[in-house]
Amino acid sequence: MRIVMIGPPGAGKGTQGALIAEHFGIPRIVVGDLLRDHIARRTDLGRVVEGYLGRGELVPDELMLCIVRQALIAARAAGGGYVFDGVPRTMPQARAAYTIAAELGMTANAAVHLRADDKELMRRLLGRAALEHRPDDTDKVIRHRLELYQKAAQPIIAWYAQRGLLVSVDAMRQAGEVAREILAALELLPAPASPASMRHPVDLSGLGAGCAS
Ligand code: AMP
Repeated sequence: MRIVMIGPPGAGKGTQGALIAEHFGIPRIVVGDLLRDHIARRTDLGRVVEGYLGRGELVPDELMLCIVRQALIAARAAGGGYVFDGVPRTMPQARAAYTIAAELGMTANAAVHLRADDKELMRRLLGRAALEHRPDDTDKVIRHRLELYQKAAQPIIAWYAQRGLLVSVDAMRQAGEVAREILAALELLPAPASPASMRHPVDLSGLGAGCAS
């Protein structure tokens, strides 16, 4: 099973992506977490991307696509499945990530789209800011990230819909309810989950190394 998560910040991509990954026994690739980890470890990539994350700006595509390629190769070694959270965020990323995945024989089976309105997203993100102290969870930066999402999202959603891959759910409900709807829809997909014998543990912690040079 190969899944791409789409949705605005705060819609629950992390929570739902983790549940999907656990359900199908596949690795979850969370681009934002990978970038934050590089920043925390002061790697070359971390130093390059720190300012972008702090301002809520998108990191340049060539860096993102380098990470996408590494992540897909690691996921292939782990059995071929994945839940991708964070890419694509722009149409050029969507097209380029598709080309990379197609070269590797690993294009997505489904794009899970979480829908939520800005008022609810602001409420959730400000709540998370109070708990987690993420530097990009300030009121101003959150608004900017939501604007960037709204600007880019429609063509990306339409692109997956045209290819018959879109699973779109109302994410303004309790996480358990949202998860049940997603898993029921994914279980109906024709592609089988990778057999347990194909799955191996995978270490994604080194991803991004070499992408900043
Ligand atoms: P997230 O945790 O997914 O909200 O991502 C946090 C930040 O990481 C974003 O505000 C961007 O600065 C950066 N980022 C994450 N994914 C991408 C992407 N696909 N393209 C560009 N920048 C990204």
